[in-house]
Amino acid sequence: MTISRRNFLKGGGLAAASLVVAGKPAQANVNSPEMRTKGLQSTTTICPYCAVGCGMIVHTRDGKIVNIEGDTAHPINQGSLCSKGSALFQVANNERRLTRVQYRAPGSSSWEEKSWDWAMERIATLMKETRDRNFVRTEKIKGKEYVVNRNDGMAMLGAAALDNEECYLLGKFARAMGVGYLEHQARI
Ligand code: SF4
Repeated sequence: MTISRRNFLKGGGLAAASLVVAGKPAQANVNSPEMRTKGLQSTTTICPYCAVGCGMIVHTRDGKIVNIEGDTAHPINQGSLCSKGSALFQVANNERRLTRVQYRAPGSSSWEEKSWDWAMERIATLMKETRDRNFVRTEKIKGKEYVVNRNDGMAMLGAAALDNEECYLLGKFARAMGVGYLEHQARI
């Protein structure tokens, strides 16, 4: 039996129509997005990953994050998120996430738990020592002495997540420390 192109298309149309009737798709619940987050606390925030600065809504129950999604009212992303931003929930709720300071002393093979105050104090002390040890006050160029106030023992790196104000403050801090090697993660 030969099937003409016209009959083939007719048959295909009929089959599709009967599938739609037989399948009877369930009626979409237009309220489902609200139902999903009903009773939860909503807090707007900005994605911490990059300088695009997409808006997000974080839903919490009893202080625990249960959902993170793009903020449709945000002018930058209008609800959309890239794959990294979409996975932010897994960063907040992850048993492998470190929430306390872990310190391994020089030469040691084991980690110790330390307080945040201890860590800040230690970082500040080491930065000060490094700066003082490597500070170059003057430099002779072509026989003439110039004041340079330069710290050759330290470098600083900005990240894409920093906004204008944070970049400004980091730049000021780096210059105050005499740091000349100031870079940005995106250029490396
Ligand atoms: S990482 Fe993705 S979701 Fe986050 S701000 Fe950048 S583009 Fe937006």
